[in-house]
Amino acid sequence: MENLAQYGDWAYLIGAVLFILTLRGLSSPTSAVMGNRYGMAGMTLAVITTFFVASSPNVALIISAMLIGAGIGIYRARTVPMTQMPETVALMHSLVGLAAVLIAVAAVLHADADAFYKAMHGNTLSRFELFVGCFVGAITFTASVIAWGKLSAKLAAKPLKGAWVKPVQATLFLAMLGFGAHYFVTDSLSSFFVMTAIALVFGYFWIAPIGGGDMPVVVSLLNSLSGWAAAGIGFTLGNSMLIIAGSLVGSSGAILSYIMCKAMNRSLLNVLFGGFGADAGAGADAGDGKEKNYKAGSPDDAAFLMTNADSVVIVPGYGLAQARAQNAVKELANALKEKGVTVRYAIHPVAGRMPGHMNVLLAEADVPYEDVKEMDEINSDFPSTDVVLVIGANDVVNPAAKDNPSSPIYGMPILEAHRARTVMVIKRSMATGYAGLDNDLFYLDKTMMVFGDAKKVLEDMVKAVTGGGH
Ligand code: NDP
Repeated sequence: MENLAQYGDWAYLIGAVLFILTLRGLSSPTSAVMGNRYGMAGMTLAVITTFFVASSPNVALIISAMLIGAGIGIYRARTVPMTQMPETVALMHSLVGLAAVLIAVAAVLHADADAFYKAMHGNTLSRFELFVGCFVGAITFTASVIAWGKLSAKLAAKPLKGAWVKPVQATLFLAMLGFGAHYFVTDSLSSFFVMTAIALVFGYFWIAPIGGGDMPVVVSLLNSLSGWAAAGIGFTLGNSMLIIAGSLVGSSGAILSYIMCKAMNRSLLNVLFGGFGADAGAGADAGDGKEKNYKAGSPDDAAFLMTNADSVVIVPGYGLAQARAQNAVKELANALKEKGVTVRYAIHPVAGRMPGHMNVLLAEADVPYEDVKEMDEINSDFPSTDVVLVIGANDVVNPAAKDNPSSPIYGMPILEAHRARTVMVIKRSMATGYAGLDNDLFYLDKTMMVFGDAKKVLEDMVKAVTGGGH
């Protein structure tokens, strides 16, 4: 048995290296597939090893649970549309949080029946690990369910508002820590369960006041929290693999949250407690009550202008994903390239509904990576660009972020499409985007709106470009 445990440590070490290679692979679209394969290999090795090193595992029960979980996972992975990916990710984080809570509860309840848990119960350090792993898991669980509800529009994206919100948050947080500390010191089971219940409620009050525009950071932060919850429970179970994998998820999620905050020019504390989005919608009209004018054109008009341009920059947004128009946009780009037009894509870090959403979509359509430019690379090129084609994007090209200090998104870096010579916007109406803000870009003299579903409009543009000939 001792030998097995020793081999187990080696197997876990290899698993850990595979997980690190996974993260490295996932850092670029070109190596992401390989990264995923490393992840699958690492996880398979970790699961098999755990069967051998665990003390008297109930194999039949574990395998049955795994088969049910794998069945649901495979079904969901095959059927989930790209547009529902963010909420699916949020739901998966909730499961990690729930697993951490259930393991902690099982450990506490089995203290009398199981020697392993009994030893842990009498040990103050173990109680500390249990307490932290459990409340982080409980907060992650409820917060992720709320994020899932908001992202899938099953709950209103509008933030919970009121002067009472912050005092309630603070009271719940302090009460949670108080009961946790009492459990830690006295080993009181009732304090443990009250702490868990408060953490579940706190998860709701933590996320509900955060506005829609900040959901990208919230999703990556929950990713991070789910990792820390798993690492905490790894200490409880004395499982080094869970500690390493949890820490990797926790720290990579934290780094991603930091990158996302930087992309929005905000601090993490400001995102979590600053109430951005609380006023979103306030700027949805012209402000002075006057009706603003915009120009609308047909796909044929737009195709004519693009065919006669030297350079076109395509700005994809959530609407491209919603319309599943990634193949149509690539066809349009190819058709324009054949006419000698230089075509590139400009990606904003929070375009769409999850980090990397646009990159994934374009990669799915086999758009060449060298045509896809990040915001910092392309922003200085807009003034010399003939045509910018904005497809189902709104907040990420809203100039209010640059020149309206009273706008809730003021300070967030944007793709500076308004500086191009001509702007074309494909969307279905003049409706606002996710942050609920009106967009002055649509009312500029040089802007032409092309109304319709992105896929249909793009297909019509392809026909006009290939059929028209110039
Ligand atoms: P927005 O949500 O700002 O705008 C999308 C636009 O697409 C809408 O104005 C909508 O207008 C249009 N649209 C929707 N469906 C279609 C369709 N079928 N065909 C054509 N147009 C369509 O998206 P952006 O990508 O510009 O900005 C992303 C926003 O989402 C930001 O506020 C960001 O903070 C937030 N967010 C980002 C996350 C991330 O991790 N990236 C996660 C969660 C939120 P209309 O209805 O008139 O067609």
